[in-house]
Amino acid sequence: MDDPRRDIPRTDRLLALPAVRAAAASLSARVVRDLVRAVQDRARRGEIAPSAVESEVLAAVAGRSRSSLRPVLNATGIVVHTNLGRAPLSAAARAALADAAGYVDVELDLATGARSRRGAAARAALLAACPAAEDVLVVNNGAAALVLAATALSAGAELVVGRGELIEIGAGFRLPDLLTSTGAHLREVGTTNRTHLADYTAAIGPGTGCVLKIHPSNFRITGFTAEATLGELSGPCREAGIPLLADLGSGLLAPDPVLPDEPDLDSALRAGADLVIASGDKLLGGPQAGIIAGRADLVARLARHPLARAVRADKLTLAALEATVTAGRPPVTAAIHADPAALRERAERLATALDAAVVAHDGRVGGGGGPGVPLPGWAVALPEAAAAPLRTGDPAVLSRVHDGRCLVDLRCIPPAEDDRVLAAVRTALARIARPEAP
Ligand SMILES: *Cc1c(COP(=O)(O)O)cnc(C)c1O
Repeated sequence: MDDPRRDIPRTDRLLALPAVRAAAASLSARVVRDLVRAVQDRARRGEIAPSAVESEVLAAVAGRSRSSLRPVLNATGIVVHTNLGRAPLSAAARAALADAAGYVDVELDLATGARSRRGAAARAALLAACPAAEDVLVVNNGAAALVLAATALSAGAELVVGRGELIEIGAGFRLPDLLTSTGAHLREVGTTNRTHLADYTAAIGPGTGCVLKIHPSNFRITGFTAEATLGELSGPCREAGIPLLADLGSGLLAPDPVLPDEPDLDSALRAGADLVIASGDKLLGGPQAGIIAGRADLVARLARHPLARAVRADKLTLAALEATVTAGRPPVTAAIHADPAALRERAERLATALDAAVVAHDGRVGGGGGPGVPLPGWAVALPEAAAAPLRTGDPAVLSRVHDGRCLVDLRCIPPAEDDRVLAAVRTALARIARPEAP
């Protein structure tokens, strides 16, 4: 009997198909070859018929996108969603990314032809948005900013920190481990729930490198609590000549009344911090970045440290960050401030089209910001079984599964995408009605 595997089309014949050759113009030859081989292997294993190889290769080539990162419509109501890449960029920041993709004057003064300070425009934008800062340095992310500051100010010396602020910020990532890795000796003061100014002043001495305040960005301690504020700490630190550092996490540039407990860079500097540290892709709503702002002499000390080169921000980050700060309201801010009445109207339009119910649903800031702060809103309630086909559909929609229901919250979805959400939900519901369908 003939081995059907002999009927599998040969590699050279498949590579010569016009559509495959066209794809080879935008994909590397190796990637195209691997796609072809993978389909041939499926035929060898008997998973598809040899006669289907050609059409499967064409489908694989057509479905191959430039990056395998898939865009997701975030219907969870969680604004800064760590697993979805935190902040979605504003239109201005997206355009800036594209502009910066080629050669750009990131470190060159075009007027004189001389080398210039790297990222001067991003720095100027942040200084304008945060007037209390004398200088700003942008690095790879918040953790890098903290490592750079702890290394430059406290390696081989004591880093004084409140015991209640030694936090785990996500997926086993613990700030005390990070700080210890810099060679700073952690000098913990106070207790889990209460730490007083006197605890700090008793610890500060000739061996102190810096004092660090960390904002507990993803939990809240309530009840019998006390902490020393930046304002209280700044006097003793200044007298002792010790830098006071504040890791704020979230990256608000100015106070936001919706998030009363969330510190902002400008206020923290005004309150007495010498340096503040924040992330670019949390409440600031920009690209992944770490922002260090404050006293010019300290920023210069950090910028001169050899580690600064290892954690520096790339041109794409600098471009997107500048655009985020100078353009109005990024998507993160819009989602946090979304009008509940408008959210309800959109949810009702979707629910009516689907014959589903609208339920009250609180969104959340997420991603280490505004812990416990509910963002009142609405969601469309679907059967729980809709969640999986929504996730794997096209477009992919991530819903919130809660109490045996699949909740679709439109807070983090631009209104222009509502029709795509509706189409995606219809497809998902059809897939659960006919599970055998492809
Ligand atoms: C998020 C966070 C960090 C880490 O910032 P990344 O940008 O994620 O590296 C550090 N400290 C605090 C308090 C945070 O909330």
